[in-house]
Amino acid sequence: MKLVKKILAAVLALGMSSVLLAGCSDGAGNQSVAKIKESGEIVMYTNAAFAPFEYVDGQDVKGVDVEIALEIAKELGVELKVKDVKFDSIVPGIESGKAAFGAAGITITEDRKKSVDFSIEYYTSVQYIICKEDADFAKTEDLAGKAIGVQLGTTGDFLISDAIDGTEDEETKEHVKGVLEGSGASCKQYANAIEASQDLMNGRIDAVVIDKLPAESIVNNNSGLKCVKLEDAEPEAYGICVSKGNEELLKVIDEVLNRLISEGKIDSFVLAHSNA
Ligand code: GLN
Repeated sequence: MKLVKKILAAVLALGMSSVLLAGCSDGAGNQSVAKIKESGEIVMYTNAAFAPFEYVDGQDVKGVDVEIALEIAKELGVELKVKDVKFDSIVPGIESGKAAFGAAGITITEDRKKSVDFSIEYYTSVQYIICKEDADFAKTEDLAGKAIGVQLGTTGDFLISDAIDGTEDEETKEHVKGVLEGSGASCKQYANAIEASQDLMNGRIDAVVIDKLPAESIVNNNSGLKCVKLEDAEPEAYGICVSKGNEELLKVIDEVLNRLISEGKIDSFVLAHSNA
């Protein structure tokens, strides 16, 4: 009798572990297409302070990324649920399966690719400097000695922090001096570029570094400010992220993006939300 029980327990344990393994084998976890369809909703993580890509309008979050997300939800036949979270918790949140995908004008970077998988590129951007109308900035080195506001965890943050602190050469591990290093410039990290720009208007900082279209939106909504392209910044491409290995969901997202791009819809969405 004892032996039978032992065998039974072993068979049960084996069965359970294979069920667990099967559930995880595609890397999709609780955000697999099957689970999403079963629950009837898909959850998107965003940070709604990045017009025209995402912004708060009354009780709703609207914008280019929401329009894209609605198309993804429609394709899957489920409801879209948008969660407005801190920008720097989007990638970790997707990595740990708290939401199905992150869409927030997220630049595809090698570093982020270590934590999540990205869709095809759907928009290109570049970093801009927002400053007072009478200021004269064009390149990163023009910000020497200045107090610079950025949104925490963004590519603008990385660019300015690296320019101030310097970087490490990947091969030699030697310190590479940043263009603002030792200049007295400081980097102040904010929850979003709107808050940073309020400090700019109050005279607490001298400039804000953020992506092109959100910079233009902030300037349009506030008098006394202007924005200029950061001359030495590299172009950046936006992608939607999913948890690593969630290939099935990524395939649906890529199909939707390919269709929207070929129909010229992304540009229409940008235009439709450009007054935000
Ligand atoms: N494109 C920038 C990044 O990915 C900023 C995105 C954002 O602030 N929503 O870091």
